[in-house]
Formats: sequence, structure tokens, C-alpha cells
Amino acid sequence: MTTGVLVITEQIEGAFRKVTYEALSEGKQTAAALGCGIDALVMGDGVTAAAGLLGAYGADTVWTADDPALKEYTLDAYANVAGDLIQKIAPGVILIGATAQGKELAARLSARLSAPLAMDCVALRVEGGDVTATRPMYGGKVLVDLALAGSPKIIAVRPNAMAIRKTEGAGKVEKIAVNVGASAIRFIEKQLETEKVELTEADVIVSGGRGMGSGDFTVLEALAEALGGAVGASRSAVDEGWRPHADQVGQTGKVVSPNLYIACGISGAIQHLAGMSSSKVIVAVNKDADAPIFAKADYGIVGDIFEVVPAITEAVKKRKAQA
Ligand code: FAD
Repeated sequence: MTTGVLVITEQIEGAFRKVTYEALSEGKQTAAALGCGIDALVMGDGVTAAAGLLGAYGADTVWTADDPALKEYTLDAYANVAGDLIQKIAPGVILIGATAQGKELAARLSARLSAPLAMDCVALRVEGGDVTATRPMYGGKVLVDLALAGSPKIIAVRPNAMAIRKTEGAGKVEKIAVNVGASAIRFIEKQLETEKVELTEADVIVSGGRGMGSGDFTVLEALAEALGGAVGASRSAVDEGWRPHADQVGQTGKVVSPNLYIACGISGAIQHLAGMSSSKVIVAVNKDADAPIFAKADYGIVGDIFEVVPAITEAVKKRKAQA
């Protein structure tokens, strides 16, 4: 039986991740279809002011766990605080972003609550008063509908897969008592790359593979900049040391769902497709007309990256100048 939808939010330095707004917007629709309310949980230090913003994305009540002990994410502390709120409000559905942090927290909560968990979902549906979650499997080859037996149903939503919708509402903000409990984990340091567009949140990704031939990704960076996007890479490019692991797309890298994914000099191995096949539009540039990536692409250009990509960049710039 559903008693409410709870969205566990994620913020970095007080700014909510895009997937938080996506989860709230989807959660609002889900709650409306289930005929229940929607709550949000914000954990951090000095986050109460930002919490007020979430009402505009559908939250009826925003619970804030605002405490210096939550300044940096650690699994034990966040799971303890979230667990306490879940016990208090007993939601039937919990939504969380399928980010590195969200996946870890979702798994811990699932184990602790003996609750079913659907990871990396791209759509939700309400049928007969119950929630069904859809997720890609087998490297994006199939989409499966998952019925979750038990409560609360924990659903981790893939970043960039769901639409953000603002609402008229202004949710009330409630402070909760914070008890981080005992923890075996100690925060040491974090390194933030604040100038880069986060790959999982980018609308446009221009990725390069072994076909780049070297670590000089200037042509891809220029196209990404013209399109306001980010640069990604295949594992081969990362293994060569041409790009950092944070840029890797695929089974052992990041799962991305941008509006536009441009694969340059990437053959289209299943492990790469696992990370980008839910992109809305896929363009492939490859000099081998038989490269498997063309089977997945909406648009394919057979040609050399170093001729094709600069030509696209020029065309984009020209188009922008005319607009
Ligand atoms: P290649 O397969 O070597 O393809 C290079 C392509 O570039 C070719 O199609 C070629 O025609 C083209 N090309 C060459 N020169 C040019 C040019 N000048 N212009 C245009 N085209 C050109 N891979 C990932 O990407 N992400 C993962 O997360 C990942 N995880 C893995 C996990 C496991 C357990 C395993 C076993 C493998 C994983 N891989 C992953 C590796 C994967 O199997 C492939 O080896 C890898 O994706 C290939 O990278 P690539 O397409 O860049 O290179």
C-alpha cells in the first residue's frame, strides 16, 4: 500500500543536481496518479535556504537534515538520517538519482529496509494503484518493466532521462533531528571539477574513441563548446591515458542520456553502447562504414573525424551567428 512518495535529493556545495529536479517532477506525477503526497529530503550543512526551492518542483513537504556532520556525504551518516525519516513518514515509494552517490545510498537503504530496489530507471508508470519502473538491460538492448514486491519501493532514476516540470506549489520546509549514528567511514578530501559540465547532466556530449589517434581532443572540445556540451570518451581512449576516467562512457564508466550524443572514432562495442544507448539522438562519425556504432546511430557520417568534426563545428557556429 502506498502512503506517499519520498524523493531523496542530492546537492553539491548547496546546488541541487539536475537529477533531483527530474526525480521530483516525475515523483509529483507519480504521486498524483497514486493519489498521495510527495515529500523531499535534503541532507547537508547550510542547506535549509536552498530546500525552499524544491516546492516549485512539486514537493509538498521538504524535510531538511541540516547539520555540520552532514557537510560531506558519507554513506553511513546519510543512510542513518534517511533511514530515520523513512521510519517516521513511511513512504510507499522512494525516488533517488542514479548517480554514484545515489546508487550507493539506494543499495544501502534497500538492504537495511529489506525493500525492493530498481536501479537506473528511465520511466515510471502507475497502473492499478501500483508503480512500475522501466529500466534498460543487456547494454540497452531491451527495456524491461519491473514490478516491485514490498514496501517502500526504491527507484533510482537515470540522470537526464526524465523531464523537469515546474509547478505552482510552494512546499513547506520542516527541520528534522539529525542523528548520524556510528560510522566506520571518515571523510578525507574531495576534488571537484567545477568548470566542467558534468557528463551525466550534459544536454550534448561529443565523445572520442581510439580513432582520435592521440590525446589531442581539440577538435572535439571545439565542437562541444560550440554546442554547449561536454566531452566524453570510450574506454580505449581512457586506457590510452588520453582522457581521465571521469570522462568514460559505458559499462565501466558513466551512463549518460543526453539529447545529443556524437560518437567520434568509436566502433560501438556493447560495453560502450551500455553507457549511451538511451541518448535521444545519436550521431556517429567513423571512417569505417561497417562500424557497429552505425547500427545504433540515428545519423551516421562515414568519414575522417579530423575533416568531418571541424566542418560540423563551423556549420554550428555559422548557424548560431545567424540566429
Ligand atoms: P576501437 O574499437 O578500436 O574503435 C576505433 C574506431 O575508430 C574504429 O571503428 C575505427 O574505424 C575508427 N577510426 C579510426 N580512425 C578514425 C578517423 N580518423 N576518423 C573516423 N573514425 C576513425 N568500452 C567503453 O567505451 N566503455 C566502457 O565502459 C567499457 N567497459 C568495458 C568493460 C569490460 C568488462 C570490457 C571487457 C570492455 C569494456 N569496454 C568499454 C571496452 C570495449 O569492449 C571496447 O574495447 C571499446 O569501447 C573500444 O573503444 P573504441 O571504440 O574507442 O576503439
